[in-house]
Amino acid sequence: MPVRKRVFLGLVSGIILAGGAMAAAVWALARRGAWGQTLLIAGAWLGFMVAAATAAGVVAIALSVWRGRTVFLAPFIRLVLELMYPVTLRLGPLVGVPKERVQLSFVAVNNALANLGVRSPLQPREVLLLVPHCLQRAECPHRITVDARNCRRCGKCQIAAVVELAESRGVNLAVATGGGMARKLIHDLRPAAVIAVACERDLTSGLLETFPLPVFGIVNDRPCGYCVNTRVNLERVEAALDHFLGVSGPVGEEE
Ligand code: SF4
Repeated sequence: MPVRKRVFLGLVSGIILAGGAMAAAVWALARRGAWGQTLLIAGAWLGFMVAAATAAGVVAIALSVWRGRTVFLAPFIRLVLELMYPVTLRLGPLVGVPKERVQLSFVAVNNALANLGVRSPLQPREVLLLVPHCLQRAECPHRITVDARNCRRCGKCQIAAVVELAESRGVNLAVATGGGMARKLIHDLRPAAVIAVACERDLTSGLLETFPLPVFGIVNDRPCGYCVNTRVNLERVEAALDHFLGVSGPVGEEE
């Protein structure tokens, strides 16, 4: 399994081990009468159950990714993603893993699940390509959030290429100004799969909210910093589109 996915899954495994050890210690102390309260024993059992359910989710993710088979034990996987992600985000920096690396690892795990989540080729109208407004050149006056086809295709930013790519594949294209608009677009269009471009922070929060909808996340490039004149690896967008449309195989991780 590539290193990037291991970061998130490794942190979750560490949390499970620590949680299980703490629950065992509380249980042992309570049994010996040191803290002989029923409440403590019940708490220890609850801790064991959460640790076991989370461990099942980690195993499900690892096996799904390793075997390249459809996602299974989805409720446990959801538990790992929703419950453990915020914890890994706080724990990571404490053990020397920067927050950004945890987020990138989470996106990599999600993408592996998204690759598996599409069981058969989709129709172009079932696929939504969602890109951020900051991909547009800051000085451009054309309102592409209303309709991306308002782009005059001058080529001064990548929106022209993105519009042409979406048109060539016949998929839906939307330009979102933020997470709220992205959620509304997904709710209104009800796609079977989404390819979403954003910064790692927006991507991770969006991916958590939309699971189990297959959303392939592509982190943008930011030569001018966050939220202005950003860029995206178009080859990766194209490869993700072609995978969902059944033209090519799953998309690997970015180097
Ligand atoms: S390519 Fe389109 S969006 Fe970008 S600057 Fe030109 S007209 Fe504006």
